Amino acid sequence: MENQYYPKKVEELAQRYWETHKTFKAIEDPNKEKYYCLSMFPYPSGNLHVGHVRNYTIGDVLSRFQRMQGKNVLQPIGWDAFGLPAENAALERKIPPAKWTYQNITHMKQQFKQIGLGYDWDREIATCRPEYYRWEQWLFIKLYEKGLVYKKKSIVNWDPVDQTVLANEQVISGRGWRSGALVERREIPQWFFKITAYADELLKSLDTLTEWPESVCTMQRNWIGRSKGICADFDVKDRTESIEIFTTCPDTLCGVTYLALAPEHPLSIEMAEKDPVLAEFLKECKNVKVAEAEIATLEKKGIDTGLKAINPINNDSVPIWVANYVLGEYGSGAVMGVPAHDDRDYEFAKKYQLSIKQVLEPLEEDESIVDLSKAAFTGKGRLINSGPYNGLNFEQAFNTFVKVLQDKNKGRSEIHFRLRDWGVSRQRYWGTPIPMIHCPSCGTVPVPEKDLPVLLPEEIHFEGVGSPLKKMPEFYETTCPICSEKAERETDTFDTFMESSWYYARFACPDQNQKMFDERVNYWLPVDQYIGGIEHAILHLLYARFFHKAMRDLGLLKSDEPFTRLLTQGMVLKDGAKMSKSKGNTVDPKNLIETYGADTLRLFLMFAAHPELSLEWSDSGVEGAFRFLKRLWTRTFEHIDGKRQSPKIPEINKENFTEIQKSMRRLCHETIRKATDDVGRRHTFNTAIAAMMELMNALGKFAVETEIDYAIAQETLESVILMLSPIAPHMTHALWNALGYSGAIVDAPWPVIDKSALITETLDMVIQVNGKVRAQITVPIKADEETLKQLALNHENVKRHIQGKTVRKVIVVPTKLINVVVA
Ligand SMILES: [Zn+2]
Repeated sequence: MENQYYPKKVEELAQRYWETHKTFKAIEDPNKEKYYCLSMFPYPSGNLHVGHVRNYTIGDVLSRFQRMQGKNVLQPIGWDAFGLPAENAALERKIPPAKWTYQNITHMKQQFKQIGLGYDWDREIATCRPEYYRWEQWLFIKLYEKGLVYKKKSIVNWDPVDQTVLANEQVISGRGWRSGALVERREIPQWFFKITAYADELLKSLDTLTEWPESVCTMQRNWIGRSKGICADFDVKDRTESIEIFTTCPDTLCGVTYLALAPEHPLSIEMAEKDPVLAEFLKECKNVKVAEAEIATLEKKGIDTGLKAINPINNDSVPIWVANYVLGEYGSGAVMGVPAHDDRDYEFAKKYQLSIKQVLEPLEEDESIVDLSKAAFTGKGRLINSGPYNGLNFEQAFNTFVKVLQDKNKGRSEIHFRLRDWGVSRQRYWGTPIPMIHCPSCGTVPVPEKDLPVLLPEEIHFEGVGSPLKKMPEFYETTCPICSEKAERETDTFDTFMESSWYYARFACPDQNQKMFDERVNYWLPVDQYIGGIEHAILHLLYARFFHKAMRDLGLLKSDEPFTRLLTQGMVLKDGAKMSKSKGNTVDPKNLIETYGADTLRLFLMFAAHPELSLEWSDSGVEGAFRFLKRLWTRTFEHIDGKRQSPKIPEINKENFTEIQKSMRRLCHETIRKATDDVGRRHTFNTAIAAMMELMNALGKFAVETEIDYAIAQETLESVILMLSPIAPHMTHALWNALGYSGAIVDAPWPVIDKSALITETLDMVIQVNGKVRAQITVPIKADEETLKQLALNHENVKRHIQGKTVRKVIVVPTKLINVVVA
């Protein structure tokens, strides 16, 4: 072994060892405690960036640490391989998405291995492979049979030039990103998952996820958005139908001065037939697909339909408007307008001179001044101007109005969720084909199980205008499984969030080709530690949780939640900005690995910041990490040099060690105690590394003169190398063998704390004179009260302060202070 540290050589040797020994192959063992660690699998974009390296190193450090704790560790990896970038690349480079994707996977796999990530490569998954997506198609059909999948018309962004549906991110200022054409709203039939059927459970079981960041749980709660309110039916004057509205502020029902309908509401459409101005307005609304978040900033516009509605509580007659801020997809597509107590309604009423009627006054303790000429009053209040209901508070009004409405058969109390069903149809090529057949006589029919998978053709001609599948009769022409007549396949593919919603479970049994999962899924699940970016806090995690519960209810697995513990890692910044190609501030991990080795990069990324916080890139930080590893390397070889190798710490009489020897051992075992907690529980790798660096500094000052000194130095080096091995696995692999061990460090246990080394024999105490600190002394831990009093009174500084005075008493507060009281 070299006395010089050559990272490239060291890393290749370690990687070869792991590969030939199949070190990271996970085998189910019911007698061993399992630990399933998963980092969110990457999209195979082609090149690894530093953010990836950070993410995957965190998972690797935790996996290796838990392995050293004796756990049976599973750490798999795969590729979230479907998606839009492959189609874009195909257009730019004239290469089919499949080919581009597989090339990238091959390349990135090489990069992953260079970083020394301990993956079980036998479990590798690529979601674009039929052996994976066939089970997704199978699951979709099972959930369809269970009533959790349905089809309905839904609005999409339509590019009239490219004749294609655009994803939201492909619409830039209302125009298609490629064609520049004005995007239109179009209604087309699409498939939906009834995720709302699980809204209640998805919300309630967030309470069981105590090991998730609270911020993520809050985001999920807000997204699901449970609210309790009242549904009320407003009759339409001189017509037979009524309009249903839902409100979470039913105490303001007497303050309704208008109703607003969505442009898509059937009544809006009907009225537009006779009203060209309204028809023009509906057309205008149709051109913008409004995301919910944009509603707040949208300029509010509306048209009076001329119709009147009757308030079921007080029989007031109010105008019915059509307004652009009401979403047709949400609820009943109609809302009540209470300008006096709602900011948005206030803005609308002011603009169109609608009346504003105050029905709440502030509670006694509320000092708000209500001035409806300036703004709405949106605080809590007591009812006024509400006839027989005056004086009621919110709770009383809620209960009273529910009863009034129920008696009239015009409403009820309801729980609503903000969460909406998950639309999974994508009018794209590079995705999982939706396994449905359209038969002219039998309607929509699922593909029979025996005919799965519906294969996505990989050799295609990709032009970017529409999906190639729509132009491939060999794909879409088929026969109906029921009547055997000519029929057509669905040419839409699944949202790529589908593949990432169940991959974590498939890793338990990726080679199972008879069914989706087998009993191994219950051995490994739930995932003990999940790691990924905060940008996935809502949708990915929510969809995966939904799939997990739906799969549980199909009897496919047993647990209730997929991920027990979640770590959301921070971003990697350079000069305070997120690294990106467009900013030209990226750092290529490849060059760094060439220069310093993967261990240096891993050490820097784990040392530079707490894993959940942003990390500022620093070239000098990288060099610092490299220098530390070099020092450890050199120190280890100096230690071995010319001396008998001693793989075992000799049995020695610890009682007779000198103070210097004892304090060296104490620091070593304090560091083990700290690193164990920092890595295993707190996940603060940075503070663990800092403690190891301090220990190495102390070792640098520790003179090795005797056999005992040598044994202590050996123990310290071994401990540092073991504790550092999850972070810098290659160089510690080499050093472990250099220290005389024949096995691999990856199979060695984590260092054990020697409690006897931690015992302190002296302690520091403060001496006060009349309550003022006058001195500090180091005393033997076993010193009795009389000895302590004498020590205090004989201290030089204390003597000065008590000179010429009478000592009244000396108070000893054990282990803390001695107070001399004088007069
Ligand atoms: Zn048929």
